[in-house]
Amino acid sequence: MKMQTRGHNIWANALYCVKMVNAKDRVLLWLFLATTLIEVLVPFLGIFLPKLVVEQITAKVSPVQLIMSVSTVALGIALLYAAGGDLKTRSQWRMIMVQSEYVWDLYMQSLRCSYQLVESAEGQTLYQRAMDAVYKGDEGCIRLMMPAVMGICTAVLGFALYTSILSLLNPWIILGLVALSLVNVLLPMWTRRFERENKDRWAALDKKINYLTQKCLDPAYGKEIRVYRMQCWLRSKLAALLSARRKWDCRTENRRYGAMLGNALTILLRDGFAYAYLIYKVSTGQIPLADFVLYFGAITGFSQWISSLVEQVSKIGTASLRVEDYRAFVEADAHGKTEQPSYRTLLLNDIKIEFCDVCFAYEPGSKNVIDHLSMTIEPGQKVALVGVNGAGKTTLVKLLCGFYTPSSGEIRINDHPMHEYDPDALLGLFAAVFQDAALFPFTVAENVALQPKKKLEAWRVDISLRQAKLQEHIQSLPDGADSQMLKVVTNAGVVLSGGQAQKMFLARALYKDSPVLILDEPTAALDPIAESAQYKAYEELCFGKSSLYISHRLASTMFCDRIALMKDGRIAEWGTHEELMALHGDYAHMYEIQSHYYQAEEEGADA
Ligand code: ADP
Repeated sequence: MKMQTRGHNIWANALYCVKMVNAKDRVLLWLFLATTLIEVLVPFLGIFLPKLVVEQITAKVSPVQLIMSVSTVALGIALLYAAGGDLKTRSQWRMIMVQSEYVWDLYMQSLRCSYQLVESAEGQTLYQRAMDAVYKGDEGCIRLMMPAVMGICTAVLGFALYTSILSLLNPWIILGLVALSLVNVLLPMWTRRFERENKDRWAALDKKINYLTQKCLDPAYGKEIRVYRMQCWLRSKLAALLSARRKWDCRTENRRYGAMLGNALTILLRDGFAYAYLIYKVSTGQIPLADFVLYFGAITGFSQWISSLVEQVSKIGTASLRVEDYRAFVEADAHGKTEQPSYRTLLLNDIKIEFCDVCFAYEPGSKNVIDHLSMTIEPGQKVALVGVNGAGKTTLVKLLCGFYTPSSGEIRINDHPMHEYDPDALLGLFAAVFQDAALFPFTVAENVALQPKKKLEAWRVDISLRQAKLQEHIQSLPDGADSQMLKVVTNAGVVLSGGQAQKMFLARALYKDSPVLILDEPTAALDPIAESAQYKAYEELCFGKSSLYISHRLASTMFCDRIALMKDGRIAEWGTHEELMALHGDYAHMYEIQSHYYQAEEEGADA
């Protein structure tokens, strides 16, 4: 899926970051403002003080008067300097807090964002980049951008102040200093463009490296890696990826170094000319000594303000890439989400589901995975969805859950299009057992109820586990339903077999007790005996609920009222088992092949 993101210019991103800060901590902006004023005033007083001294000595004022005026200015500088340091430390702390609040917000957003974003590789990349942008401490977007914004405000104020001083000397000198400084502006732009144009390439490498390094410690992969002795192979893959990544680092660093060298040469040329002119002026008596001291300081300071301006623009450019990374995810998630002023009320019983001429393709313009599909599940009806791999069964479930929107046609719930209902309320309709369901490192009871311990109803957890035929096993655990699951947190964590995990997922669906039950290949990990017992259980468990039961094994669909055979994204055959057998179509053909296979398996087992 193509995510909708826009590139923003560096100033737009700077403003965005200021707004981010303002949304969390208004005081911080005032601290920045005060620091900015101090940072301009302190160096100005620094060049003003020598002029004052020379002026007063030349005017032959009394030593007491000289000491008084000098110490007043010096004390002012010291106080402002101390206040500036204090404000900087406070703003640092507040920035750290603000940035960590955005890390938290991003975690929360990853839980709420559209499933489409979660499932796509592009969405994963956007999330990883956004997280990097706020998570990387002093490399994070706020801690990079805000000092740069503050630096630019300081440099602009300082530039204005020193320009007015130097214009008294000779306006042309200002033009010369500015013109040479332009070179300093262009060089970092050259570096930044390179980074902007290539960051997607190294982000792809980073993603692969992260994936591989994480999987090395993943127990699910650990078995394969050891049994198939994949260590050398994985090491060489990782080494190749790291070497490619290092090459990008080198190229970027070379560019940065080149730009830095160019900057240094330009500064040498710029300041050299200005000082030569000043020396000429004072040596020919065109300016007094006190003014020479002031102008000398002003030229040094002016050049520093320009360098700082250039440096801060470059820093804003770098920070802007980070802000852009953050925005890209936030805006991709916000894309297409519109606030519906009022949603239709959804009653949670007698649910009728209709797919009306639904089409869907994962990528715009690619082949339809669901192709003009129409089907109705009446209230309380149990429909089995069968078909070969890739027929589109799971995609149909994703559309039904609202994870994706049909490209055309519509899905209707109780005679109204799905989009007229609150998406959150719609999810309340479904209890689902997905093929790739996940267990969490919480207690067994929490894994069933998917709620915090304080909120869950233990008696309902027990009933659900019993109905899913997992109660006996859970009771045999030392802490029963309070046992911790998975070994990621504790070594004593409970690890379930594939079949037991599937029963756990079923218990989860039963606990939710929603009017529509979706079972996507729920018996794939069960042995044939457990599988057949499980079908009988489903028959009872689905009683009174509308249900969609996806399976490869056609014999498992007998308990359903209707069977839909999916082929190439369409419902190719629809009816009861007997009706479809009488059709002698694909269903009958698949059923016969599977019965032979199972018979052979059973005979093999008997022999
Ligand atoms: P089934 O559940 O019947 O095996 P699926 O609905 O999983 O079929 O897949 C139908 C088709 O859609 C397959 O060709 C599959 O490769 C493709 N597909 C599934 N998920 C995605 C996805 N997230 N992005 C792109 N294509 C997908």
